[in-house]
Amino acid sequence: MVIAGSRHPARTQFMTMTSASALLGCIADDFTGATDLANMLVRGGMRTVQTIGVPRGPLDAPVQAIVVALKSRTAPRELAVAESLAALEWLRARGCRQFYFKYCSTFDSTDDGNIGPVAEALMAALGTDFAIACPAFPEAGRTVYRGNLFVGDLLLNESGMQNHPLTPMTDANLVRVLQKQTRTRVGLLRYDTVQKGPEAIAKARSALIGQKVGLAIADAISDDDLYALGTACADDLLLTGGSGLAIGLPRNFARAGLLPEAAHAEALPVIDGMSVVLSGSCSRATNAQVAHWRDAGRPAFRIDPLALASGQAVVDEALAFASQHLAHEPVLIYATSSPDEVVAIQNKLGTAASGALVEDALASLALRLRDEGVRRFVVAGGETSGAVVQALDVGALQIGPQIDPGVPWTASLGSEPLALALKSGNFGATDFFSKALAVLEEARS
Ligand code: ADP
Repeated sequence: MVIAGSRHPARTQFMTMTSASALLGCIADDFTGATDLANMLVRGGMRTVQTIGVPRGPLDAPVQAIVVALKSRTAPRELAVAESLAALEWLRARGCRQFYFKYCSTFDSTDDGNIGPVAEALMAALGTDFAIACPAFPEAGRTVYRGNLFVGDLLLNESGMQNHPLTPMTDANLVRVLQKQTRTRVGLLRYDTVQKGPEAIAKARSALIGQKVGLAIADAISDDDLYALGTACADDLLLTGGSGLAIGLPRNFARAGLLPEAAHAEALPVIDGMSVVLSGSCSRATNAQVAHWRDAGRPAFRIDPLALASGQAVVDEALAFASQHLAHEPVLIYATSSPDEVVAIQNKLGTAASGALVEDALASLALRLRDEGVRRFVVAGGETSGAVVQALDVGALQIGPQIDPGVPWTASLGSEPLALALKSGNFGATDFFSKALAVLEEARS
């Protein structure tokens, strides 16, 4: 890291900073990707907060890493660049000394951007002329070899990602893909070098800089490769990648003696109060999770989008149902339906309209349930989570213990914190809902 090599001056500088000064500032191009990265950093021992957009004011929490979650992945290029630069400025004002641009491990982007333009703009703003680009996430089957991205055994352009509605990935060669997006020269940090370890990587890195390469796609097929890259890039001002590349960064800060609270990175404030599960995701995993809860005989209320559309007081009914049970046990309120049911509803109401109707209902329910004393929310669905968090006026989340891979418990910052587990569609095991509630109880004791 920028300070790792220069122990004394940097350490003194850190010691004299306020407790609210952070070390690592991250800019993520979408919400659930931001959580994934934050979860990775917490597991590495860094106390981490995720903000929703660029906050207006300072952050009142002693943390070591901050992840600003943007919605810039598919935004117009100029907007993505402007928002990323605003996030960078805000993170610099928080004292961050190393920066991380997080994008998807399938390199979701178009010929126009936004990975290249954002990386280029961040490099210019930071005054640095080199950054690596590595979406590899071996734990999730994403590996990069000789510049080609694999999803499991398949090349990216044969993995299904070639059919993505917004960011179709039709070329697995990331050097080519990234070069189309940027004026900066793109090179390759080959596997032959990466597997030799940090020293070899540092040497190859210098050679690439000598060849005027500004962005280097880095090969990586295992966590060991990512640790080696992390060590080699300890002094880089900017790194770019998926959440996998971040695996090596907490170690750099720990080595420099900058993580005094490492053992408590996942500690959250104790949050007492009633618990609910709100589910607006219709993904396969969520359907199984809803079925699992219902099969166990636990209380559940189904929201029918057609009843909502007809003006029926569905939210009031759901609230009345919840009130009967909440004092004794958690309740699930769900709109989750099978693919066939969803298509039938979308055909009747329209896709966007039915989505918005359900999101609005779950968001207003969340608000009313909070007023009734609910303090712990498990929410299923990426868009649904966004709507709930917005309704509850949550601006930032402290990241806590992991429930299932990629999904941690979080606590909203502020004087009356809420516990929030925000799960995007296909995440989580079948027993995710009860497991989440059990993890929170365990963390409490
Ligand atoms: P995921 O993470 O699984 O994609 P999201 O919350 O992002 O979940 O998206 C699911 C979308 O489907 C939301 O807009 C939600 O309001 C909508 N939805 C939920 N239930 C239904 C339903 N029964 N019929 C139609 N749309 C629904």
